Amino acid sequence: MSVPDKIYISYNNVHKLCQKTAQHILEKNERPDIIIAITGGGLIPARIIRSFLKVKGEKNIPIQAIGLSLYEDLGLENKVETIGKEVIRTQWLDLGALEKHFDSMIGKKILIVDEVDDTRTTLHYAITELQKEVEDQQKKLNRLNEKTEFSIFVLHNKDKPKKAELPKEMIESGHYIAAVTVPDKWLCYPWEAQDIDEHTVLSVEQGNN
Ligand code: 5GP
Repeated sequence: MSVPDKIYISYNNVHKLCQKTAQHILEKNERPDIIIAITGGGLIPARIIRSFLKVKGEKNIPIQAIGLSLYEDLGLENKVETIGKEVIRTQWLDLGALEKHFDSMIGKKILIVDEVDDTRTTLHYAITELQKEVEDQQKKLNRLNEKTEFSIFVLHNKDKPKKAELPKEMIESGHYIAAVTVPDKWLCYPWEAQDIDEHTVLSVEQGNN
């Protein structure tokens, strides 16, 4: 069967992929302490997966949002080729709020959520910078012996050569979770749809419901 140029994803499909992933995480006994959503695509999956990660008697998992944009998406000139510098931060963690209500990220299980892993540039930047952030906190508070565990959840991973890598141990330990691996085609998410009814019909026709 030929692969369509555009892959349509319905809200129901997103919901079910989050549910399936949450079950997988809970079965492994790896419920996160903090969710970090990469805006904007990670926001809706982060909110949905939080509900499925809820455990009776436990507090809701806090969600923090970080905003990252690729230079090319912003239309900026003088794009710098170095990984990391291709990405700019438009929003970052509220460390004050985390420390006040939640101690810190040190020694916690942290789940980073985005909608799609395309060239991997964004995820590479996010994990690198978040790890640095924790290391800085550890040095500041002299808590060097505690292990912080980062995981990544994306709805879709595009099967293609990547421009950047994730830490090897993260992949090997199963802490990189892509609900579905898809061909290198454009994914149409429901939150971007102009006509959500038509979008849903197309998603169902493609079996993405
Ligand atoms: P990266 O190349 O860094 O892995 O992905 C950068 C961003 O490009 C993603 O977070 C996402 O916002 C956007 N993107 C990449 N591929 C697609 C796609 O197929 N559909 C949509 N809607 N956005 C995409």
